Amino acid sequence: MEIPFVDLKSQYRQIKDEVDPAVLAVMQRGDFILGGAVAEFERTFAEYCGVKYCVGVDSGYSALEMIIRAYDIGPGDEVITAANTFIATTLAISNAGAVPVLVDCDPATYNIDASKIEAAITSRTRAIMPVHLYGQVADMDAISAIARKHNLLVFEDAAQASGARYKGRMAGSLGDAAAFSFYPGKNLGAYGDGGAVTTDNADIAEKLRLLRNIGQKVKYFHEVKGYNHRLDTMQAAVLSVKLPYLDVWNTSRRRAAATYADLLAGLPIVTPQTADYADHIFHLYVVRVADRESLMDYLKEKGIATGLHYPIPIHLQPAYAELGYERGDFPITEAYAETILSLPIFAELDDEKVAYVAGAIRDFLTSRGEAESLPVAVAVA
Ligand SMILES: *Cc1c(COP(=O)(O)O)cnc(C)c1O
Repeated sequence: MEIPFVDLKSQYRQIKDEVDPAVLAVMQRGDFILGGAVAEFERTFAEYCGVKYCVGVDSGYSALEMIIRAYDIGPGDEVITAANTFIATTLAISNAGAVPVLVDCDPATYNIDASKIEAAITSRTRAIMPVHLYGQVADMDAISAIARKHNLLVFEDAAQASGARYKGRMAGSLGDAAAFSFYPGKNLGAYGDGGAVTTDNADIAEKLRLLRNIGQKVKYFHEVKGYNHRLDTMQAAVLSVKLPYLDVWNTSRRRAAATYADLLAGLPIVTPQTADYADHIFHLYVVRVADRESLMDYLKEKGIATGLHYPIPIHLQPAYAELGYERGDFPITEAYAETILSLPIFAELDDEKVAYVAGAIRDFLTSRGEAESLPVAVAVA
């Protein structure tokens, strides 16, 4: 059996009858730039997230950067974010001229550890940017309480969390503004790059509309120095076809995750924990295991693709040498980077395939014996 890490083709086959005409209709209308499909998707996605405004942009990265710029955060400012994240989160901060200040992750959820945020606040801090990593929302009540106390903004990096919830409230509605990614492999993916910002703030939404479109509302009248970060009309048309399926697809992911957890129970492998407050959508299914590289190789031989999210923490990347962090600064993030392994997960991954993957892992681990299990301190904190 061949099990890809994500299967974009089988999802396309499911919606081909709807998505093909939706894309063709854009070509027939010819409204390629900020066309009707963009406004339509923005309206429905805002409604889905339970916010007043959605502004479509050309990637999740741009969504994050445009948020930072819309709030006039830049040189001299600091933004606190998770040490355990994809580098786009911090690039958005540093490319806008501000400094990303990192905080280690919670050992159980892998998200920013809210209890360590206050120690990172300085007189320059303007915002906290939690990341809803792997599809599980960060502890937003704790984060919002800290933000209120210190008069800081809260921006969600919801790139991996379309449709996730926190105490019943939607990701994207939990801070001052939120960034989504519609990169094809994300749980709500376009057929190319795409992203969006959600917010309840009318002024910020207006400013984002200017910033994404070279600073103009009326053609050739430029109120501010903007960028070209518009959501492509064809991508918006694809997203509008997909959005009504998102909850069903997320439910399938959750089911696959539950099946993995059942089948891997009792083995020397740490499966994901879902916090009480979270409705995890399992954009990624990340386990931890000793001797990860050998397991990866073994699974590859069995036709099973895996991934690493992420193999080198941000503070140890050459690109961020300037931040002056050292190995040892974020011990949980660092320890996890050595042992994490992302298993295949997507809405079309049925029980038979999950059982095949879990069976291969079981065979590998039971042939190895107990010496290889993770130290308990790392396994369960
Ligand atoms: C994917 C991702 C981004 C960036 O999104 P793009 O659409 O690829 O630019 C940002 N943050 C996180 C956590 C992501 O997973």
